[in-house]
Amino acid sequence: MSPTAPLRVPEPELVARVVDALVRNGFDAQVAAPVASTIVACERDGTPSHGLLRLPGYIEAVHTGYADGRVLPEVVGKRDSMLVVDARQGFTHLALAQWRDDLMQRAARTGTAVLLIRDAHHFAALWPDIEDFAVEGFVAISCVTSRARVIGWGGTKAVFGTNASAFACPRADGPPIVWDQSASVMSQGDVLRAARQGLPLPEGVGVDIDGVPTTDAARVLDGGALVAFGGVKGASIAFAVEILAAALSGSPFGFEAPVPGNRPSKCGQFLLLVDPRCAGTDVARRVEPLVDAVHASGTQKLPGDRRYARRQQAAEHGIELDAHALDILDRCAPGTA
Ligand code: NDP
Repeated sequence: MSPTAPLRVPEPELVARVVDALVRNGFDAQVAAPVASTIVACERDGTPSHGLLRLPGYIEAVHTGYADGRVLPEVVGKRDSMLVVDARQGFTHLALAQWRDDLMQRAARTGTAVLLIRDAHHFAALWPDIEDFAVEGFVAISCVTSRARVIGWGGTKAVFGTNASAFACPRADGPPIVWDQSASVMSQGDVLRAARQGLPLPEGVGVDIDGVPTTDAARVLDGGALVAFGGVKGASIAFAVEILAAALSGSPFGFEAPVPGNRPSKCGQFLLLVDPRCAGTDVARRVEPLVDAVHASGTQKLPGDRRYARRQQAAEHGIELDAHALDILDRCAPGTA
């Protein structure tokens, strides 16, 4: 890391640097733009497990030919309320960016719209994929598979992906409520960060290669597995994600996907939009008494509140990058400002 490197970077500058890093490393600019904006959104909102930490993995994936950084996704199936997109070994981001408006139009016409993306790579947080739909008044649900890292119902070996799922709904008196979570107690990205920092994991997060519980992140990563959140209930969610995102889209299950190291999993993605206006309801207004009741019950913070606060700070002072993130940036885009 350069000793004069800034610790806070304005968002547009960081996006430009990440785009530059991707384009220098074999990405088409059209593909790079939405990938970069997701990486930067994660740094900005304090989701470092899916920010710059992932940049070397994106680059390596394209360098080795494991993923295609230049291919454009194509629609392979269309119904009134469904789009099936083949990402053709590329990344999901461009497919979402390209068919976002089309999907909203379908949902506004029919009440619902489903986007299925196959033969794709996803290496990111899910909330950036759906938050904007809630800003536009839709209720959105999405999930994505990843390679097998999570133990099933009482097993000892990984069988399901960490299979993130996310939900977003509009609010009349505030930004959308968005939750976004891994099917595991702890996301793989956070386990990687713990391993890098030499920190122990909390109890109940992972097992080693023999299925024995361990707090050693390195042992979990070295042939071990992650524990599903909520025990068998989390395993059930992980299973449902395999069906929605992989089976429905025509993509490999987590256990069928190749083991990529620190690279994006081959995956499928499922995204459902519901337009409350077609149901004749005003969900954005209706959610307010629920939010009030939640706060009155003693809850201080809703999912998303932490991110929105970080976003506000970033807008005022720039995005704060730690030394590791700056180092990644300097290594991936050397010589840029
Ligand atoms: P976290 O456990 O950090 O958070 C899960 C959700 O719970 C977030 O919406 C968070 O909101 C909310 N939350 C956490 N603590 C509180 C609290 N005290 N009160 C209210 N809400 C709270 O996420 P995970 O570690 O499970 O996942 C991290 C990321 O990893 C996700 O973005 C996920 O999409 C991504 N991931 C991606 C995969 C892929 O293959 N692409 C696979 C698996 C995970 P807030 O954001 O405000 O903190």
